[in-house]
Amino acid sequence: MQLTQGESTMSDGTQTGADPIPTHVDVAIIGTGFSGLGMAIKLKQAGRDNFVLLEKDEDLGGCWRDNTYPGCCCDIPSHLYSFSFEQVPSWTRKYPRQEEIHTYLRHCADKYGIQPHVRYRSEVVKVTFCDASGFWQLHLNGGTRLTARVVMAGMGPLHRPAIPALPGLESFKGTRFHSSHWNHAADLNDKRVAVIGTGASAIQFVPQIAPRVKALHLFQRTPPWIMPRPDREMTNIEKWCFTHLPVTQQLYRRLLYWRHEFRGRALNEKSWIHKHAQRMAANYLKAQIADPVLREKLTPQYSLGCKRVLISNDYYPAMCLDNLDLITSPVTEIRGNTVVAEDGSERDVDAIVFGTGFAAADPLQPDFLYGPGGLDLYRRWQEEGAQAYKGVSVAGLPNFFFLIGPNSGLGHNSMILMIEAQIQYILQCLDYMDQHGVRHWDVRRREQDAYNDELQARVGTAVWSSGCRSWYLNKDGRNTTIWPGFVHEYEARMRKLAPQVYEATS
Ligand code: NAP
Repeated sequence: MQLTQGESTMSDGTQTGADPIPTHVDVAIIGTGFSGLGMAIKLKQAGRDNFVLLEKDEDLGGCWRDNTYPGCCCDIPSHLYSFSFEQVPSWTRKYPRQEEIHTYLRHCADKYGIQPHVRYRSEVVKVTFCDASGFWQLHLNGGTRLTARVVMAGMGPLHRPAIPALPGLESFKGTRFHSSHWNHAADLNDKRVAVIGTGASAIQFVPQIAPRVKALHLFQRTPPWIMPRPDREMTNIEKWCFTHLPVTQQLYRRLLYWRHEFRGRALNEKSWIHKHAQRMAANYLKAQIADPVLREKLTPQYSLGCKRVLISNDYYPAMCLDNLDLITSPVTEIRGNTVVAEDGSERDVDAIVFGTGFAAADPLQPDFLYGPGGLDLYRRWQEEGAQAYKGVSVAGLPNFFFLIGPNSGLGHNSMILMIEAQIQYILQCLDYMDQHGVRHWDVRRREQDAYNDELQARVGTAVWSSGCRSWYLNKDGRNTTIWPGFVHEYEARMRKLAPQVYEATS
């Protein structure tokens, strides 16, 4: 199957996503990123047709639709950053670019007949449990409501941009935007641009825009550890083999899987692999940056892996451009068109681009999700930190499942593997509920607590808690995002449902 760009209707030409919102469905899925789409495909394959996907935008794809910044690509190889059940041999590069991932997701939706289930421009603004009916009620923008027996939240942790509340920001007269909502109409050529943040997104777009802007003032709070990006085009021979001998692609994917699992060992500070990896990253920096003063600025003062390790071949060369000014003093204020740093220095700019990431550690927005008896999950998570059982179920929220919920993110391997493990687990829950006439399915609080106690004990001694600030940690320093083990361990733990963990009500 050749991926072609711009497939927005089904292959038979049917107009999609235009049907009215049903008043009641068996399953409502929020979001059409990898997790929502994957869930929908597997529901359909299991013969469960009574579901709807609610999508706030006019197109599907989640963060791979939103993030269109120059140079946006994935740091996990294409053949691993895709569904195990939909392996395409036509990936053009080892590491996929945003457009190709987005096209892949549209292809999956078309091929598996998901488009008729999607309702576009249907933003879920609130989800409440109706104690009287025992169903969930989903409130959409514009006032429409529908009820569902089961809700699956596939919003992902990367959908709420984090923009710092800088004093005077409102007074800025130039262009400003966040990297996840790139303003392509803004002409940055020959302009003075401030970029705030040096995380995974910034290291991809900074090298793209730096050569064409007049001056790029890059505000770095903490330098990232960076490794080379071993990207290349896939060869025709590889594509031929993957097309005609699919087993070769399966083997290639397996190889990538275990290579990335091995990489996870580098996140254990006590292992020699960690020391070796950190030395490699330091040597890479040294080889790329000759100027000792600049190198010092770019040298992380924390253990490799404490923040996400980034991969790039063009970030360090961009640091050496004459028009790039790397500032390590934090931005304190915006005064008119001037960006003021803590050391008192000022830069006049025409545009500000925020590469400041997402509110990943606090994935829920306020006033969004209320369970039985008015349980306000946002408030509970503000007090306790976001937590769930195995990243999918939350005590007090019957028949509600998270996809990529708390502590199911990764720093070393493909998130699609975690998503697929969660999907098959949730399907087991649904099957069990149907087979045993269960009306409400609610994880027991003590099981959730025991699970989280074990998990926090593990993250607490891991590299992510070794003293750096990162989006893995919430405001209280609790790691609410990362799964502290290997993927194969998570997959094994998700493989078999233990029904006694749940309170089942008929
Ligand atoms: P990020 O990695 O969280 O980086 C945010 C950057 O902004 C950091 O450098 C941070 O500095 C800085 N920052 C945040 N608040 C700031 C403030 N108030 N003042 C100054 N600096 C501030 O965000 P991202 O680059 O957008 O990436 C977000 C997520 O997307 C990550 O999960 C990333 O892995 C993912 N992503 C993945 C890919 C991929 O290839 N799979 C590509 C792009 C993004 P500190 O470090 O000091 O906090």
